[in-house]
Amino acid sequence: MHYFEYKNGQLFAEDISVEELVKEFDTPVYIYSARTFRRHFEAFDSAFAGIDHLTCYSVKANSNLCVLKMLSEMGSGMDIVSGGELFRVLKAGVDPQKIVYSGVGKKDHEIREAILSDILMFNVESRQELEKINQVAAEMDSTARISLRINPDVDPKTHPYISTGLKKNKFGLDLEQAMDSYMLAKQLSNIEPVGIDCHIGSQLTSIDPFIEALDRIMKFQSKLTDLGIDIRYLDLGGGLGITYDEEQPPHPVEFGQAIKEKLKGTDLTLILEPGRVIAGNSGILVTRVLYTKKTPSKNFIIVDAAMNDLVRPSLYGSFHRIACVHEKNGPDCVADIVGPICETGDFLAQDRKIREVGQNELLAVFSAGAYGFTMSSQYNSRPRGAEVIVDGTKFTLARRREVYFDLLDLEEQCF
Ligand SMILES: *Cc1c(COP(=O)(O)O)cnc(C)c1O
Repeated sequence: MHYFEYKNGQLFAEDISVEELVKEFDTPVYIYSARTFRRHFEAFDSAFAGIDHLTCYSVKANSNLCVLKMLSEMGSGMDIVSGGELFRVLKAGVDPQKIVYSGVGKKDHEIREAILSDILMFNVESRQELEKINQVAAEMDSTARISLRINPDVDPKTHPYISTGLKKNKFGLDLEQAMDSYMLAKQLSNIEPVGIDCHIGSQLTSIDPFIEALDRIMKFQSKLTDLGIDIRYLDLGGGLGITYDEEQPPHPVEFGQAIKEKLKGTDLTLILEPGRVIAGNSGILVTRVLYTKKTPSKNFIIVDAAMNDLVRPSLYGSFHRIACVHEKNGPDCVADIVGPICETGDFLAQDRKIREVGQNELLAVFSAGAYGFTMSSQYNSRPRGAEVIVDGTKFTLARRREVYFDLLDLEEQCF
């Protein structure tokens, strides 16, 4: 459910027409719906009502400060994966006791910053990382709360690049290694093991892999209890999928029910790290048609957004629904919708059925609120587009469009 709807043949973001926003902010532009963000967060978080839980929004899905502030004000915690994300969430006013820090490659200074901020816990992904955190905490005369990230070897049945809980993936520790590392954690002077964590992948459209992972983790957790390691937090990660095309992912309520059923009778606090399911359908990318061209083998619609703005189609072969901002009758065509970048991999859609469009028409790329702007770059020296947030009848610029000087800002006059 989202608030990007057609009224009288015109696409609206909540109460504001997309055309009006484009007049103000030009293209390409990311448009976010505040009401959709809030609705998604509510739907997800309330699905776990009745048990101790903390929803930690996964910042990498969409890390715009306005988005982080809005979610933080609703009580959301944050799952971060870098020092930069820690910096962002602190700027957004997030309570450090609601921050968990994941990721396989934390650097010394990032660990120090997180300890200094007194975050809730680190999700630790290797034995060496555990030793490093202990060392940094000791130097600071402090103690770090940690979970170990378990790799439960469960197939999430999603794109290989976003599967993370398989044996062959770089993430987490297998059960045997995790046991050794917990024993070590227990002995380390500046480490307090408080939780157990996993994150098996992204864009999951079935509950089964989550339950399989949860079963394995809970079994493991009871072994830890027997060994005198007292776990208070169970972090199930993120990964719940969304509808891009015709996927039918479980509703958060159904997801919540299944998890709550399993946790009944334990005194664990559940942590969840949803990203895509909150942000994905809360944003669109609007682009303008520059040219159309017919070649002997294909039709191309060349638009002013490219893989540097939205890389998911190029990187994962992902499907994003694309539609005209102005609905009108006309013949359909089948075309590749491509950007200006000098790469054959630069496309937003391939062999897509769409109404025949003319120059200057506006197209909306849906489901672009997660892993859209955050994965953008300046490749081909293209300044990044603007991000705008709409809330009812109000709208505000959430990040200004970059200008040419932004391209050179950090570079030196050499020699
Ligand atoms: C990316 C990530 C998430 C969020 O995944 P979604 O599929 O967007 O919900 C959660 N936890 C960790 C550790 C991640 O890396």
